[in-house]
Amino acid sequence: MSWQAVVLTLFPDMFPGPLGSSLAGRALKDGIWSMQAHDLREHGLGRHRTVDDTPFGGGAGMVMRPDVLDTAIEAVTAEVVLPVVYLTPRGRRLEQSDARRFAAGPGIVLLCGRYEGVDERVLEARQVEQLSIGDYVLSGGEPAALVLLDACVRLLPGVMGSDDSATEESFSDGLLEYPHYTKPAEWQGRPVPPILLSGHHASIAAWRRTQSEDATRNRRPDLWAAHTSRSSSIPFQQQ
Ligand code: SAM
Repeated sequence: MSWQAVVLTLFPDMFPGPLGSSLAGRALKDGIWSMQAHDLREHGLGRHRTVDDTPFGGGAGMVMRPDVLDTAIEAVTAEVVLPVVYLTPRGRRLEQSDARRFAAGPGIVLLCGRYEGVDERVLEARQVEQLSIGDYVLSGGEPAALVLLDACVRLLPGVMGSDDSATEESFSDGLLEYPHYTKPAEWQGRPVPPILLSGHHASIAAWRRTQSEDATRNRRPDLWAAHTSRSSSIPFQQQ
């Protein structure tokens, strides 16, 4: 049984989009995961298939109706139990641990908002998890759904070439990854750090660890604080 990505959207043509190429695209063709993008308008009301209405309390823009969204969610979850996620700037920030959690399950249903967003009651009634991909506002949830799906699909068994790719990269241990270098050994007067040419695997691992810690401490104090509070054996705590 392949991992199921189900998307509820007003723009089903946007899927699989970039996920139809490269590693994710090959995995899609190989049946490691499957994708269904459902048009929310199929559940719209009346001759115009209306999915939105004006906000109670006034204000600009339109809001997606709870009854329409509820029918759409019911249609895709009636026979299969999948977590339902609404992409929204009001949600908790998406993290690698979320991608790992969803990738370990049977799949996911993603609700993509448009306009001002969706009526709060359907999120409560359906216990929909709300996730944001960052502190900025997109015009719709579709690019956010693609981001979340990419993060999940690459973790599915058989998608990435080497299992080490996922265990060593940024966030796998709460730190940013170390910097990478390839040939030529010197480029535009910039040599590769000599340790990487030494062949001493333990020294290289130690250097990379220090680079990871430095990058995390300098660029992402929030991650560094979480990392040091989790670990009691971090040398930097003694500085
Ligand atoms: N009025 C909303 C607000 O201020 O929070 C923004 C609505 S936005 C124009 C339309 C849709 O784009 C949202 O319903 C959501 O699905 C999606 N969206 C926008 N920014 C997002 C983000 N940072 N993360 C996830 N989804 C986002």
